[in-house]
Amino acid sequence: MGMMKAWVLAHQAPIGMNPLEKVNLEMPEPGRGEIRIKVVACGVCRTDIHIAEGDLPLKKSPLVLGHEIVGVVDKVGEGVTRFRPGVRVGVAWLNAACGTCKFCRSGRENLCPEARFTGWDVNGGFAEYTVVHEDFAFPLGDKLSFEALAPMMCPGIAGYRCYRLSGVAEGEILGLYGYGPTASYVLQVAHAKGVKAFVVTRSEANQQAAREMEADWVGGPGDSLPDKMDAAIIFPPAGNLVEKVLANLQRGGRLVLSPVTMTPITIADYNHIWMERSIISLANISRRDGVEFLHLAERAGFKSRFETFGFDDLPEVMIRVKDGKVKGNAVIWID
Ligand SMILES: [Zn+2]
Ligand SMILES: [Zn+2]
Repeated sequence: MGMMKAWVLAHQAPIGMNPLEKVNLEMPEPGRGEIRIKVVACGVCRTDIHIAEGDLPLKKSPLVLGHEIVGVVDKVGEGVTRFRPGVRVGVAWLNAACGTCKFCRSGRENLCPEARFTGWDVNGGFAEYTVVHEDFAFPLGDKLSFEALAPMMCPGIAGYRCYRLSGVAEGEILGLYGYGPTASYVLQVAHAKGVKAFVVTRSEANQQAAREMEADWVGGPGDSLPDKMDAAIIFPPAGNLVEKVLANLQRGGRLVLSPVTMTPITIADYNHIWMERSIISLANISRRDGVEFLHLAERAGFKSRFETFGFDDLPEVMIRVKDGKVKGNAVIWID
């Protein structure tokens, strides 16, 4: 059996203490229904940092992080029908779901209590090879580069789910609070579907990036909006934004909270949530989100904002991601 290079997390520690270690691991063999992927690139997500630092519990050790995986099928296990060696493939956060619980049966596998996640419950993409069940891998077209596709596997698909949860329809206005990689994909989805996007962000650089993507209005948190919004999505974990955003929603408007954690939320004035305004949080992604988003991204030629780094740079890159010093999404090139 061959060996491969991988970055593993053995113990959780602050990212500045370099908790990742580069090691040689046995190359994984694809089991029944599984495919082995030669990883070409893997994006770095804030969730990787949350796992490395202990904000999320460690479920296995040593663990290979990384769930924005793109590459080429290298070997298929027994019974595989959807893939053959040599085709382009992607793997995202949802690695497995039970298929039988009430959430799975009602199209909400993202809420499955038995769900497993890439780079958390099972080894992820910061390695030369990874394996996944064929049912949880996404075929990729030829139109977009691997580097552009990597960030689509998490911010892209999660952004698409946020968009779906917002419930906006053609001709309506969607507000985006914060403008990182996820918001940039939501903006592109909105435009592809005839929805206007207002972007509110403090950062000058992000305001500029939103203008370059032709956001319909861009401003800072102190600016007054040109119109009420039909729905909005908050990306930073700032609970104090919630009431302010609700106050700018149309009646019946929906507010989506994208973060995994949030500072305390208070709604002091009932008028801001009355008239059937509602709040919903995002949790994980489903395969449907991935299939629909990747189709749309390929068809419409979505743009990704990313910086590419080498395999050996990963520990340094994680520090830069944590400090917000990467322009767009960090992508590790593994080839
Ligand atoms: Zn992620
Ligand atoms: Zn389930």
